[in-house]
Amino acid sequence: MPPNSDVIELGPSPDTTDVLCETDAGPKGTASDLSTLKSTDGRKLELVWINIILFIYVHTASLYGIWLMLTTTKWQTDVFAVILFSLASLGITAGAHRLWAHRTYKANVAVRLILLFFNTLAFQDAVYYWARDHRLHHKCTDTDADPYNSKRGWWFAHIGWLCCKKHPDVTAKGKLIDLSDLQRDPLVMFQKKYYLILMPIFCFILPTLVPVYFWGESLSVAWHVPALTRWCLMLNVVWLLNSSGHMHGKRPYDRSISPTSLVFLIWLRYGEGYHNYHHVFPWDYKGAEMGRYSQDLPTILIRIFARLGWAYDLKSVSMDMVRKRVLRTGDGTHPVWGWGDKEHPQEDIDSTTITYKKKVK
Ligand SMILES: [Zn+2]
Ligand SMILES: [Zn+2]
Repeated sequence: MPPNSDVIELGPSPDTTDVLCETDAGPKGTASDLSTLKSTDGRKLELVWINIILFIYVHTASLYGIWLMLTTTKWQTDVFAVILFSLASLGITAGAHRLWAHRTYKANVAVRLILLFFNTLAFQDAVYYWARDHRLHHKCTDTDADPYNSKRGWWFAHIGWLCCKKHPDVTAKGKLIDLSDLQRDPLVMFQKKYYLILMPIFCFILPTLVPVYFWGESLSVAWHVPALTRWCLMLNVVWLLNSSGHMHGKRPYDRSISPTSLVFLIWLRYGEGYHNYHHVFPWDYKGAEMGRYSQDLPTILIRIFARLGWAYDLKSVSMDMVRKRVLRTGDGTHPVWGWGDKEHPQEDIDSTTITYKKKVK
């Protein structure tokens, strides 16, 4: 994340991570197993004022940016800002999240370069650190070792975690996360090494200069709209997943964990709205079920890459596995309970394989 001054240097990379705080559900789900782990020690937060001041400026300037969008900007600037927002979101969802943090698919050099470019546009720290924090979030969800522990409240999970020093458990367990796959990826390591040069160029300087140079936008509008406001809105959408995405919504796949299906993000179609599904099946490249559940921008992009032969080994979860999990641990809000359900989407029915069909005489 932005000025994440508290960078953890890697220790030796052990085979066992010792950070497996999240277990598979028992007969009654995981709630009883994890209730003792999922708490905070209530320690006083040590504020990082430089980040707080930066975020106050960015959010105030973004309010001004929204005002400019409503009153002053040229239409080309608005379109440019939306395009940049979309590309940056893909750099996080299809890139840092699904490709590098979870390894839900593999990709060739071209795809990795494209996604690293998009990712640098988003300025949410280098992929290497983003993936480390995110793996830790999945391993230790809702404990003090979770960088954006939602048990500390909505504000902490949303932005507060970047405004104070890390909990010692985050630092300690973070060192144990295996990042050897990322260390073997020269492109990821290149981005990490040159991040403080690449990030300002791609996230702020080019988004400001392009509108000024190509369609005569004013410098102030170009700085406030496609650079700052676009970045700030993107940050808040991703943060929503850590805050509301662990508090508000249904839990169709596992009622005993905090992640939810977040309608707002599902509606946006930028991906990751099915956060309850994602925490249950984090290796699924779609981050959602088949059919209408997986029609979001990153999934479409990954499929395009796969058609070109640039992405491969896409992992997903069978309908049968999803159904079993829904029946075993879901909260009863999953809209489809089985074959023949009235609300079963036609797309899902069409994409279902039926083998050993009964022979009609
Ligand atoms: Zn994830
Ligand atoms: Zn989560």
